[in-house]
Amino acid sequence: MRLRADRDICIGSGNCVLTAPEVFDQDDEGFVELLEPDPIPAHEQGVRNAVVRCPSGAISLSEPRE
Ligand code: SF4
Repeated sequence: MRLRADRDICIGSGNCVLTAPEVFDQDDEGFVELLEPDPIPAHEQGVRNAVVRCPSGAISLSEPRE
């Protein structure tokens, strides 16, 4: 799983940080920062929840093809 966060789209709501604080942070202006671009399996469900809860669509996931 590969995670991306587009800071140009982020509106600084903080939902991702509340949902998966081990993976996301916010800078001084409130924009998303990725702490873990390649989340470990234990964090994957939190990441998926954060993607759904992001109001701007700034977070995206790509999964390797099998
Ligand atoms: S939930 Fe989305 S819009 Fe809100 S801070 Fe995180 S990336 Fe930005």
